[in-house]
Amino acid sequence: MIQFKKLRLTGFKSFVDHSELLINTGLTGVVGPNGCGKSNLVEALRWVMGETSAKQMRGGEMDDVIFAGSDKRPARNVAEVGILLDNSDRTAPALFNDNVELQVTRRIERQKGSLYKVNGQDVRARDVQLLFADAATGARSTAMVSQGKIGAIISAKPQARRTILEEAAGITGLHSRRHEAELR
Ligand code: ATP
Ligand code: MG
Repeated sequence: MIQFKKLRLTGFKSFVDHSELLINTGLTGVVGPNGCGKSNLVEALRWVMGETSAKQMRGGEMDDVIFAGSDKRPARNVAEVGILLDNSDRTAPALFNDNVELQVTRRIERQKGSLYKVNGQDVRARDVQLLFADAATGARSTAMVSQGKIGAIISAKPQARRTILEEAAGITGLHSRRHEAELR
């Protein structure tokens, strides 16, 4: 299983200065007063895994993830989030599987959109989304339980609930690839 090792943020939401969060095996708790950025950290994780909905990021448009300025600091034009992954059991998709460590980064510049890299090489958003869909940790996967999600699962229609179960079973990546293949 792909393991998360380190989250790096620069200019992302309230994390204007470069910040790093070490993720060791076992449980990691993030504690702090209201408004200190706990949810922003989770959103950074969701974002670097390829989230495309600004609404999921509590914003009106994707540029809203960029530090918007404060009383003391001017706004930034670029945000970058990196996630370091341990792939030592070689379960990543073939495209990435030569590497024991994968550094996935997503960078956004105002009005220019996002760019993704894995170990310094440009990749498509789709490649990153599939990497995490296979690892069953994707931005929309059941591994990310946001506030209100439990209630949503309980009240979901059967088709939506099936999608949730498929994600939990780790077969969403296969479905996406089949869909792509059928479109070609
Ligand atoms: P709570 O305990 O209330 O859930 P939290 O620790 O989860 O709080 P967050 O919601 O992560 O807090 O952080 C909210 C803070 O992030 C607010 O102060 C908000 O102004 C700031 N913030 C959000 N987006 C941006 C942005 N684009 N630029 C600057 N600051 C931002
Ligand atoms: Mg919060």
